[in-house]
Amino acid sequence: MGSILQMAEQWLGLRLSAEQEEALEWYGAELLRWNERVNLTAIRSPEDVRVKHFLDSLSVLTATGCLDGKRVADVGTGAGFPGLVLKIACPQMRLTLVEAVSKKLDFCKHVAAKLGLDGVGFLHARAEDVGRHDEHREAYDVAVARAVARLPVLAEYLLPLVRLGGVMVAQKGESATQEVQAAQYAVGVLGGSLEKIQEVELPSVAERRYLVIVRKVAPTPARYPRRAGIPSKRPLAP
Ligand code: SAM
Repeated sequence: MGSILQMAEQWLGLRLSAEQEEALEWYGAELLRWNERVNLTAIRSPEDVRVKHFLDSLSVLTATGCLDGKRVADVGTGAGFPGLVLKIACPQMRLTLVEAVSKKLDFCKHVAAKLGLDGVGFLHARAEDVGRHDEHREAYDVAVARAVARLPVLAEYLLPLVRLGGVMVAQKGESATQEVQAAQYAVGVLGGSLEKIQEVELPSVAERRYLVIVRKVAPTPARYPRRAGIPSKRPLAP
């Protein structure tokens, strides 16, 4: 394996600067340091952090293109994946991180402050509540999530946040195609239309990774998202 800079270029066709690489290296070291007292990640080695957190997060850009100037929401960001990594790569992006667990958001605030990242909002909230708020509803060009919920549920978290013409991006593993089928009804009801399922290849990662891109083609009906906890308890189905 090489440096983040080399791997981003070789595997994703993305050019990072030395400063961006330095910021990511600091972020990775800080993640592992905090992880000794706050449960932020199951990944323990710097090499795995580079590939499974940083490269995997950056892979979103292969589907969306550069996000500079865009308004982006990362729902269930945990320790900032993919949102903070995308912000480091695209400094002119306006980012909102949504996370239900405050300790994880504290880590994100710490990283953003130390790296001098501006234009980042932090919401200690459930996605279902954020999606009902005027300030956030249908306000984002892109709503993204990794490892948060199965697609029928995730569509109810993300699509209410996306403006007409914008996209939701779900980072998924091997189950992507099956989840897309299961989410057909939910996506349609919430105003989405499947655009593509794009495969992502990462170095030394056996599991296939996918980006599921859903375009917002109609407004989300006012009754969605339902109350916090309901989407996961009763995923939308015909
Ligand atoms: N996206 C990060 C990543 O890929 O490393 C974190 C993934 S972690 C498995 C899932 C995160 O989503 C948790 O931090 C959890 O608190 C958050 N989460 C789950 N459901 C949520 C919801 N409805 N609203 C806000 N955050 C949620």
